[in-house]
Amino acid sequence: MEGKADRAQEILREYWGYEGFRPGQREIIDSAVRGDDVLAILPTGGGKSVCFQVPTLMSEGLSIVITPLIALMKDQVANLNARGIKSIAIYSGMSARDIDIALDNAVFGDFKFLYLSPERLRTEMFIARLPYMKIAYIVVDEAHCISQWGYDFRPDYLEISRIREIAGRNVPVIALTATATPEVADDIMRRLEFRRSNLIKGSFARDNLSYVVRRCEDKFGQLLAICKGVPGTGIVYVRMRSRAEEVAAFLVSNGYVAESYHAGMGKDTRELIQDRWKTGKTRIIVSTNAFGMGIDKPDVRFVCHFDMPDSIEAYFQEAGRGGRDGKRSYAVLLWNDSDIRRLRQIRENTFPSLEYIEDIYHKVHNYFGIPFGYGMGHAGKFDLADFCSRYKLSRARAASAIKYIEMENHWEVEEEGEIPTRVGFILTREELYSFYPGDELEENILDFLMRRYPGIFSHTVTVDTGYAAKMTGCQESEFKRRLYMLYKKGVITYIPSDKTPLIRFKENRYMPKDVSLPKKKYDDRLRRFTDRMEAMISYVERTDECRSVLLLRYFGENGAAKCGKCDVCLAAAGRKPSNRNAMAAEMSEFVSSYDFREICGMYSIKRSDRGWLAAAVSTHEFLNDLMSRFGDGYKDYLSLLRYMLDAGMLRN
Ligand code: ADP
Ligand code: MG
Repeated sequence: MEGKADRAQEILREYWGYEGFRPGQREIIDSAVRGDDVLAILPTGGGKSVCFQVPTLMSEGLSIVITPLIALMKDQVANLNARGIKSIAIYSGMSARDIDIALDNAVFGDFKFLYLSPERLRTEMFIARLPYMKIAYIVVDEAHCISQWGYDFRPDYLEISRIREIAGRNVPVIALTATATPEVADDIMRRLEFRRSNLIKGSFARDNLSYVVRRCEDKFGQLLAICKGVPGTGIVYVRMRSRAEEVAAFLVSNGYVAESYHAGMGKDTRELIQDRWKTGKTRIIVSTNAFGMGIDKPDVRFVCHFDMPDSIEAYFQEAGRGGRDGKRSYAVLLWNDSDIRRLRQIRENTFPSLEYIEDIYHKVHNYFGIPFGYGMGHAGKFDLADFCSRYKLSRARAASAIKYIEMENHWEVEEEGEIPTRVGFILTREELYSFYPGDELEENILDFLMRRYPGIFSHTVTVDTGYAAKMTGCQESEFKRRLYMLYKKGVITYIPSDKTPLIRFKENRYMPKDVSLPKKKYDDRLRRFTDRMEAMISYVERTDECRSVLLLRYFGENGAAKCGKCDVCLAAAGRKPSNRNAMAAEMSEFVSSYDFREICGMYSIKRSDRGWLAAAVSTHEFLNDLMSRFGDGYKDYLSLLRYMLDAGMLRN
């Protein structure tokens, strides 16, 4: 073992240049190298990749890595190849020919890693090649996706046990996740058919992160106070796309450099925004939960949740993006009663009745004209809005029912089945020189298209209209309108984008009596959803226990020490009283140096009278000065001032 452990160290140094292992990494690697199945739970950014990459480099053959996020997959593969470790990725969106070549490489080439997105596991092309591959490990990244009890269940992950079977039982599994309650961890090991249960978990304590929960009505005001009070880069999480834009605009109007970010934006636009934030050009990013996956910015000083997240799992991951560099950072969650009402409403919408779900099952088939006993393999464009208006359905509820049936693995909805905008030139380059653009914007657009897409004269190219609009200085809608006009003028071919997702049927349509949506499973899901939600609510409502202790206990870490820097610890440590002393000193200082003459003159207050001071500090003028001196906290100072006056503590 010693020798092997040293070999691990050598590899770490040789390929990555790291001096030593981080907490947990060594144990996980040793266990995998021994040939155990292992479930590794390390916090986000804790270094999970190394835990399967090092053992793979210590073995013969290649590892199959299943991971759900295509962007991250491409990143990792590029990263490995850059280190001289031969790796390939297969994901939906690749052509059949490219997949074929990649799979052949996996069988015959000396590759070390084959990354797969989960929906590829079922494909014949892959299954047929699998027995011919020499497999070192089956790696399951984001392993919580296999658990129906987790917050991010993906039915395709269930295929992994079949892959295990074909690969042979003695090929070890390395499963990794950053969020797993004890219950979910057990479920993961069961579903992956661990030969022996084996869980290795690093600590989730974050010593430099201060968790603050603030109940408030004026979230906008609070946010400003945070941006003002905490220097440095920040992330603000909101629930909806429109809200992201609204909050970002609010910050900008208050003089902060902020941008919004959400999945409704084109890929290039998102990259641009992300890049500006990463390089410090944008200080604050306001985003839906689309932001952050795989973002590795060490110096995030605050993460503010502007809306309450719907699970502690999601919250902890997002908050944990603060302070990766080990320096003091803040995770501030703002909430009020409307967050709780909204959360309960979400549950209503997420769990329509089973009868309703079954009804939707048939309506969707009818929508595509699929009769009973047919449908398997069929894929069609699915426009939810159109579907709902045809059958007069509430969108949120219908969407949940469709999602539920997807979890039952009957069909699959591909949100990313988006057909992008395509543009090509009809005019040749020479003809274009003698074409006079209508105005400057049109000229900019033509210029941009020519520069950015060298092939555009010979074939149509994919254009990210959000990005293009930004680069040419107009709104996206205007950009699209201009493309249409250019098309009308016969300058370009223009195929507008089509965002309709695809629905793909995995089974034939059942007869009404055969549609089985088990009640017990439904109840179970509902209960666990409710538990998760209630845990979140109780987390924000409680003020009697250290935030860090609560969070760690939720993830099964008992007996953690109080952090000493969350809102609960600070309040308990009597920071308030000592703070009050400091405030009182400040107040005395302010009052004694304040010039009351003008106010007294204005309000005819005689300075010789008893109680003149009390009268003076109640005037509009004085209150204004107080506010400008003490800012947002002035109300606290005011009540302290009244107290000090009553107690005879002030003189002037
Ligand atoms: P996770 O998947 O757990 O979120 P990653 O595997 O992406 O984390 O690693 C996060 C970062 O930490 C990466 O930049 C990685 O290169 C770095 N890292 C991992 N292990 C070590 C180590 N032992 N020493 C220094 N840096 C490390
Ligand atoms: Mg990872």
